[in-house]
Amino acid sequence: MDGIPNLLERAVLSLLSSDQAQARRALRGIDFPALCKARLEFRSRIWAKGGLASGYKSLHPGTGRQSTRRADIRATFERDRYTCRYLHCRRRTVAIEVLKLISHSLPDLLPRHSNWQPVETHILYWTYTTSLEHIVPFPAGGTSNRQNLLTACYMCNDAKNYVPHDILGWDIGPPAEYCWFGLTEYIPELRKAIKSLNSPGSEGGNHNSLSDLMS
Ligand SMILES: [Zn+2]
Repeated sequence: MDGIPNLLERAVLSLLSSDQAQARRALRGIDFPALCKARLEFRSRIWAKGGLASGYKSLHPGTGRQSTRRADIRATFERDRYTCRYLHCRRRTVAIEVLKLISHSLPDLLPRHSNWQPVETHILYWTYTTSLEHIVPFPAGGTSNRQNLLTACYMCNDAKNYVPHDILGWDIGPPAEYCWFGLTEYIPELRKAIKSLNSPGSEGGNHNSLSDLMS
């Protein structure tokens, strides 16, 4: 099974016990060059399949996009156990709130740019973030009804920005049945731990942009 989510969980548990050194070791256990290479190869296969050099979204600008209720997003992620539903992938994903909290604690190891600049935002955000997928996309008449929603890793979701779903032809698997919730179960305690790390008199942590992680 993919070990990266386990390493991220170890990093989170280490931060909860104020052991930044152990958290750093866990993050360094991730083979980042291999992750970058895998993403590049994946994107190359997608482009070869789609052949739409100008990009799919630009061909269908803003067609009928609808907002999705937060409750429906959460219910979808929980139903799918935060696991990518595409059969070729089935990756366990990690909630973006958790990645942001790790970035806040260890910005040198897990950098993040607020606008996801590719060079400044860590490859984990592009590959393991939990994302909401519409089975039938908006340009093809899809809606934000819960029946049209599923969980995808960001890497798979991003591919559909460039190649139509009917060309990709990806099969969808059933929701996962194991207990994996994208590390969301640690968010309240992680927020507290980071807040105390950033309290006056404490050392370490990133004092910038803490407020946006606490809401
Ligand atoms: Zn995926």
